[in-house]
Amino acid sequence: MHTPGKTGTLIPIFNPRTGKAEDVKPVTKTDAEWKAQLTPEQFQVARKQGTEYAFTGKYHAFKEHGIYACICCGTDLFLSDTKFDSGTGWPSFYAPVSDLNIRTHTDFSGGMVRTEVLCARCGAHLGHVFDDGPPPTGKRYCMNSASLDFHKTP
Ligand SMILES: [Zn+2]
Repeated sequence: MHTPGKTGTLIPIFNPRTGKAEDVKPVTKTDAEWKAQLTPEQFQVARKQGTEYAFTGKYHAFKEHGIYACICCGTDLFLSDTKFDSGTGWPSFYAPVSDLNIRTHTDFSGGMVRTEVLCARCGAHLGHVFDDGPPPTGKRYCMNSASLDFHKTP
């Protein structure tokens, strides 16, 4: 059920800790508010569709067990269980926590046609998804470390 709230419609976001979808308010902030919250690199990548240089992000070779959340709004996005070494220099996953937690749209920038991946709750730019990933999905979610915030889980 989607209940209209004062600031608009609630959206369902999956919570991997409870295994359930929960209705939450979308997060919208001005550039000034995001700038105050994020580092300059995080702002450039997550709010301005930037891409960090390959092999420079903090998570491309990171192997801890846990959950990768949105750097902007804290929405859980990817589980370490779905992370794989793509060799690209960017953290890569074969599936999101849930299709509820991301949205995609066709990106024509840079002379290429790619599928951009965004946080469903706040619209943060996360990276792109490609069809050359490993089983079981065949997808490769090529993410920017700058858009992610890792939380260790037991
Ligand atoms: Zn977000």
